[in-house]
Amino acid sequence: MSTEALYQEIILEHNRKPKNFREMDDANRTIQGRNPLCGDELTLWMKLDGDAIVDVSFKGQGCAISKASASLMTAAVKGKSRADAERLFDQFHRLVKGELGEDEQKTLGSLRAFAGVAKFPNRVKCASLAWHAMHSAIADGGVAQVTSDPESQGEGA
Ligand code: ZN
Repeated sequence: MSTEALYQEIILEHNRKPKNFREMDDANRTIQGRNPLCGDELTLWMKLDGDAIVDVSFKGQGCAISKASASLMTAAVKGKSRADAERLFDQFHRLVKGELGEDEQKTLGSLRAFAGVAKFPNRVKCASLAWHAMHSAIADGGVAQVTSDPESQGEGA
């Protein structure tokens, strides 16, 4: 199986059976994420205890890439510290923009499945939606809304 086919299979599998796809009653962060370009929508729940991401889950509707990305994101950051999750956010962002070097890519495991997204600029927003929500969850308090379109995230918007 080629690398590309393998990555495709990872995305399809996570779209079919997403991890951590549930609501969370005792979350202390709830983020609504939207990608208006594609119509992807998700809600992200996170339970933070001090610096630790104790639990993270999501529900939503969208294309296979947005859903698979949310699934893999939750699996990747669960149990991590905020600093580690931020580092992954940064690496993932560079990965989907085609700016992440081979050595760093090797540390990303299944997340590398999204490397091909770099060739499709419209899909970058699908792949990064859940990551923006996660980033917002650990950066801000309480309830927030994000879109994966940075240009539309102005002050007070
Ligand atoms: Zn999408």
